This record gives sequence, C-alpha cells and structure tokens, in this order.
Amino acid sequence: MKNLLDFSQAELSEFIEPKFRAKQIFEWIYKKKAKSFDDMTNLPKDLRENLKQNFYIDPLKKIKSEHSKDGSIKYLFELKDGKTIETVLLPMKEEQIDDNGKIIRHARYTICVSSQVGCKIGCAFCLTAKGGFVRNLTAGEILAQVLYLKNDNDIPYERRVNIVYMGMGEPLNNLENVSKAVKIFTDNDGLAISPRRQTISTSGLSSQIKKLGDMDLGVLLAISLHAVNDELREKLMPINRAYNIASIMDAVRNFPIDMRKRVMFEYLMLDGVNDSLNDAKTLVKLLNGIKAKVNLIYFNPHFGSKFKRPSEENMIKFQDYMSAHGVTCTIRQSKGIDISAACGQLRERSKNESA
Ligand code: SAH
Ligand code: SF4
Repeated sequence: MKNLLDFSQAELSEFIEPKFRAKQIFEWIYKKKAKSFDDMTNLPKDLRENLKQNFYIDPLKKIKSEHSKDGSIKYLFELKDGKTIETVLLPMKEEQIDDNGKIIRHARYTICVSSQVGCKIGCAFCLTAKGGFVRNLTAGEILAQVLYLKNDNDIPYERRVNIVYMGMGEPLNNLENVSKAVKIFTDNDGLAISPRRQTISTSGLSSQIKKLGDMDLGVLLAISLHAVNDELREKLMPINRAYNIASIMDAVRNFPIDMRKRVMFEYLMLDGVNDSLNDAKTLVKLLNGIKAKVNLIYFNPHFGSKFKRPSEENMIKFQDYMSAHGVTCTIRQSKGIDISAACGQLRERSKNESA
C-alpha cells in the first residue's frame, strides 16, 4: 500500500487515466476533506476500487492532543510504522507589517510541522536529539500534518495557514522530501499554500542551504544560530564543526529571498550561557549587511537538561540592544509552555508514561 499524499498531481496523472482524474482526486483530498475513497463520488466505481487496493490517504493516527491556555494545540501522531511525531497549531494574533508600517496581512494560524522522526544533529539543548535519528518523513507525511490540523480545527479551506518546518528533525537533512512537500503544498488544486508562507528552519547546514537556494522554491529561511562564536556554538550544536558560523553567513548572503522579506535568525536564550550584552554586540556585527530579523526564544527546560530558562529582564535587555542597533528583534512568546511545547517533549513524555 502506498500513501497517496506522497504523489504530486503530475505524478498521479502519469498512471491515472484520463488526466483530469488526478485533479479531481487532489480536490477531494485537499479541498473537500474526503476521509476515504468512497467519499470521492464523481470518480468511477472501478477507479475507486483500484485506488482502495493500492493507496491510503490517512498516514496519521492521532495518539493525543494537548491544549494550551494560549490557544496552541500540540498533536502527537503515530505513523503507519508505529513511529511517532509531533505537530503544533499556533494561533497567531499578530498582524504582519511591512517595512513602512503598512499591514500586509492578518496572520491567523501557523502550523509547526516535523520533517523527520528524531534528528541526527544532536544539539545539546534539544529533546528531539536525545532519541537519536530514526528516519526521514515522506512528503505525504509532512503534508498530512497540515491537512489533519486544518480539518481537525475546522479551519476553512480558504484560510491559508503559515507553515514552519520547526518541529522534530532537521529539514535540510531531508531536503528531497521537504522540497517535494513545499511544492505539493503550493498546488492550487491542493492546499494552495504559497512558498512565501513556508519557513524552513535549519541548524545551519551551509551546503544544503546552498542547494535549497539553487532550487529557488521561494521559501523563507530561518537559521538556528544560538551562539555568536564558534567555540560555544560547537558545544551547543556539534554541526558547527562541519559548518562554522562564517560558512553559514556566507550561505545566507547568497540565498535568494524576496526583496521585502528577511532571513530569520533564531536565538535560543540559555541563562548565563549566551545571553549577555557582549553576545548581543557580536550578533549585531555578524548580521551586518544581511537583511535579517532576530527571534529570541526562551529555552524551554525539560527533565534532565542542564540549561536554564533566562530571565525576562535579560531577554528584554538583549532585545533592546538589538533594536537600538537597527536589528529587528522579537521575542517568541513561548507558546504552549504549559503543554511541553519545546520540540520533542510531548513525544518524550508519552514514552515515559507508557513505560
Ligand atoms: N532542526 C531545525 C528545525 C527544528 S528545531 C532547527 O534546529 O532549526 C526548531 C527550533 O526549536 C530550533 O531553533 C531549536 O533550536 C529550537 N529548540 C530546540 N530545543 C528547544 C528547547 N528546549 N527550548 C526552546 N527551543 C528549542
Ligand atoms: Fe535537530 Fe533542530 Fe533539535 Fe538540533 S534543534 S537536534 S537540529 S531538531
């Protein structure tokens, strides 16, 4: 059996005749919320039977979901092979304003998707890293996360969501399937979510950033920087030995991005480790000449972690320094901290409960 969501419309139309059937199937799945092939009433019965015998359209089973006071909902899904992943729905109230202060859209929902089961990168602060790497998600398993959350929360088809590849896994270690998902998301007969609403977050695999740039998909890029010198970054993120800060900055400078957009630099604040004003000062220098915005993230502590959450005071001081030096800087309001929101935490807790 194959996951039908792994196929682009063009691929489907290669083996389903006549070609317009592929478009109909896409519309059933992505627009009309079909739950089974039997729902696809305008397809001939023999085609439906044939599809039933070869494909499924439900790659995810919900194990549980947790609602946070701030409105975010975190899902734990089981895949067909029994592995589990997390996806988070984040209601976004803030509107988006362009450089001239004009409102360009009212953001509504952001969905944070996983791209792998586990992760190879092994960052010291990350819970996903602890379980090691299991496997890549397929394009269909990535698409299904957004489809499931939209349907489960009755988000109308027309209301486009933003997608961030910031759940479990390193998306650029699964570039083939992630880029395929980006394209299928974009299909107008599918979810029609433009690449400009999709942000790929990476721990900084410079050579893969270049490959992603060469694909010219039109996606936005986020870099998990977290440290401003190589010595500290190597300790926090072992990948820095292969790709140091200079190589990342170089890759970012060459990355094709919409004139009106910026590359996001995520900076995880770890109390007493990387949150001083000296760090802020170096960060300003590093970003010199790059159209960047900085997003400060509160470290979300988890059981056994040696790092501590920074004080609000330090967060604001750091932010003020950046703003005073001309760098747009926001603080990520730690959505869903009461539902164990840092990536990997729901999965980890669930394992412990069943142990
Ligand atoms: N692998 C990619 C995308 C997934 S991680 C990346 O690293 O960018 C998404 C974000 O969550 C990263 O910025 C990561 O550093 C951050 N993160 C990991 N563990 C965290 C924790 N305990 N608290 C807060 N943020 C965390
Ligand atoms: Fe992987 Fe990102 Fe976690 Fe690092 S922070 S281990 S790259 S998921």
